[in-house]
Amino acid sequence: MFDKIVIANRGEIALRILRACRELGVKVVAVHSEADRDLKHVRLADESVCIGPAASADSYLNIPAIISAAEVTDAEAIHPGYGFLSENADFAEKVKQSGFVFIGPNADTIRMMGDKISAKNAMIAAGIPCVPGNNDPLSDDNKKNLKLAQKIGYPVIIKAAGGGGGRGMRTVHTEAALINAIAMTKAEAGSAFGNPTVYMEKFLEDPRHIEFQVMADAHGNAIHLGERDCSMQRRHQKVVEEAPAPGITEEQRRFIGERCAKACVDIGYLGAGTFEFLYERGEFYFIEMNTRVQVEHPVTEMVTGFDIVKEQLRIACGERLSLSQDQVKIQGHAIECRLNAEDPQSFMPCPGTIDQFHMPGGPGIRCETHIYNGYKVPPYYDSMIGKLIAHGETRKSAIARMNTALSEIIIDGIKTNIPLQQDIMNDSAFAAGGQNIHYLEKKLGIY
Ligand code: ADP
Repeated sequence: MFDKIVIANRGEIALRILRACRELGVKVVAVHSEADRDLKHVRLADESVCIGPAASADSYLNIPAIISAAEVTDAEAIHPGYGFLSENADFAEKVKQSGFVFIGPNADTIRMMGDKISAKNAMIAAGIPCVPGNNDPLSDDNKKNLKLAQKIGYPVIIKAAGGGGGRGMRTVHTEAALINAIAMTKAEAGSAFGNPTVYMEKFLEDPRHIEFQVMADAHGNAIHLGERDCSMQRRHQKVVEEAPAPGITEEQRRFIGERCAKACVDIGYLGAGTFEFLYERGEFYFIEMNTRVQVEHPVTEMVTGFDIVKEQLRIACGERLSLSQDQVKIQGHAIECRLNAEDPQSFMPCPGTIDQFHMPGGPGIRCETHIYNGYKVPPYYDSMIGKLIAHGETRKSAIARMNTALSEIIIDGIKTNIPLQQDIMNDSAFAAGGQNIHYLEKKLGIY
């Protein structure tokens, strides 16, 4: 096992990684911005290095500063967490070139999966069902594009190959709007992602978002840990996640899960990853792969009893997967509510000082957060301040436990989305399970 690693992230995930390191006896170097000196994991780390000013571009995205922090502290590896540089192939490459281990897949894999067209083609080759579409960059030939859309059937969606974070896509319902939509998405993609390449696929109108967690080692072994349903979304951002996905049969789980694991072997995947699918009328359609640990990984950990972050560290050290597929057992049901520092009505971020924090507890409750009494939520970063996870024998008991935990938790001084989460947990359609990705926005009157 490593002696010491750098955690190149902040907030709850940095704390989560630190805890995994503690269990494995690995020393931790926290790198942080000037605005983050008081982060919980910075205080708990063995060493800490300030890597720049508050703005992410100058600190958490500052590759030379992070690598020199690893150099001066004599660390062996860098864990990127999620967001920031976690899916930046150039970063993974530079980490390796500088003599450190990047805790994640290799740069080529990240690059291939970061381009949605090459990712889709790799998945088709591996036998994974994808959304019908052209799977090639769209040309400037209007006639050809009109023909293609007609063949796919309206509505279609124009997507940026280099897009991310729910941006860089445009839905087209009629032939009259197609040419303009392609031009606009190209222009936007060029300025937002530095890559104007776009492609076309069928727009699925009422899908659910279901994703499969995988883990692969450097010895040609790969497993899946079942699926998560992340259909409760607002502006393509997940709000609630759960495992397993309501209504998915053991047979479907095995069919898609085994294909995902096989695809990992085919592409030489390393570490933790997620295959994201849209699910409509009983069919799965791959949309993208995330080559990192995800925010919602705890629901999978709760139903499998498997520690995904510790396994990431072990795999990065060259160890074999500690579980075989037969040993993966899904037990009970887990739900995660993301806790955001935001106005529950307007969704405006609400940074500020936490006057009082009381953590909920009880059977099956897990609270992943870096906040504490007196902690000041800075205005510079994502508004997520933590996650509440509830596990129960059944989905119903997981919801009941979540409701109890939401009624116990106290976060004073700032506004949070706890009222929204309570509203969702008490919603009869959510209780029934299996709602599509538009359900929450419809409920909120914004779709
Ligand atoms: P990103 O990398 O920006 O997250 P994704 O490809 O994962 O992009 O898509 C994000 C979201 O956009 C999906 O969860 C879904 O809500 C919507 N979306 C993407 N492709 C389609 C499609 N073909 N049909 C319907 N909705 C889609």
